[in-house]
Amino acid sequence: MRRAGTVEELRSILAPERAAGRSIGFVPTMGAFHDGHRSLIRACRDADDVVVVSIFVNPLQFGPDEDFTAYPRDLERDVGLAEQESVDIVFLPELEEMYDADHSTTVSVGRLGQVLEGEERPGHFEGVCTVVAKLFNIVQPNRAYFGQKDAQQVAVVKRMVRDLSFSAEVVVCPTVRADDGVALSSRNVYLSAIERASAGVLYRALQAGESAIGSSGDVELAEKTMWQLMAEDSVVRPGYARAIDPDTFDSPVSGRPVLLAVSAKLGRARLIDNLLVTPEGS
Ligand code: AMP
Repeated sequence: MRRAGTVEELRSILAPERAAGRSIGFVPTMGAFHDGHRSLIRACRDADDVVVVSIFVNPLQFGPDEDFTAYPRDLERDVGLAEQESVDIVFLPELEEMYDADHSTTVSVGRLGQVLEGEERPGHFEGVCTVVAKLFNIVQPNRAYFGQKDAQQVAVVKRMVRDLSFSAEVVVCPTVRADDGVALSSRNVYLSAIERASAGVLYRALQAGESAIGSSGDVELAEKTMWQLMAEDSVVRPGYARAIDPDTFDSPVSGRPVLLAVSAKLGRARLIDNLLVTPEGS
């Protein structure tokens, strides 16, 4: 496995691979690896000749009161895991390598990045789009792998790729969960034992929402059911419980899959989760 710290190094490693006609697969991450990251890397390893993983905690996607400084970082452990997963190249840029002091260009997908998570985290998806656009320009992957866990990120990145004609194919991988249904997340380390025990309610709420929508097709009932289940847990402070269209994040369209999406705060951790469901008869 090779390490690249600069854009120039990475480009010089990739140029001969591309010239030899090998497919480049890319997994962008912020590190603090768990089995969710590993599943993306494995999907990439299965499909592509060259596996590139980036580890970069992107300040642009954190709000001023968010956890940029506290975000879990363990570079050496991550590099070891990447090696175990037969990654070919890890890209580990420093902050200054990615952003000049006077950088000013950003990428925005408009309204799609301003609703739901975008409403709770203003500027978040602009930060995501800007770093993903930059990384796509640096790596020029044939395929790039993202987790369904971050459903709005998937929608936003797909929209950006379509609107700006990036050539990468976006591959979406299923959410990896712990035995009790909790979606794996680097931020789960913020949970106390009591909070961790309650975190399973997000997935149970999504499952109850799925049953509600499956039996009645009633979107409002699904939203109410999910909210109530989360609100019943004294440790959980629900943020939103929504049933929406997975591409536009507007109201669901009959005959199309519905995205059930929830967020909640447990102590200082803010968790999100989602489930893509196909209502009966669609
Ligand atoms: P992050 O390091 O949190 O930015 O995540 C890097 C990638 O891993 C993103 O595409 C995430 O959606 C994906 N990811 C995070 N958690 C999971 C999970 N539990 N299952 C599948 N993919 C995940």
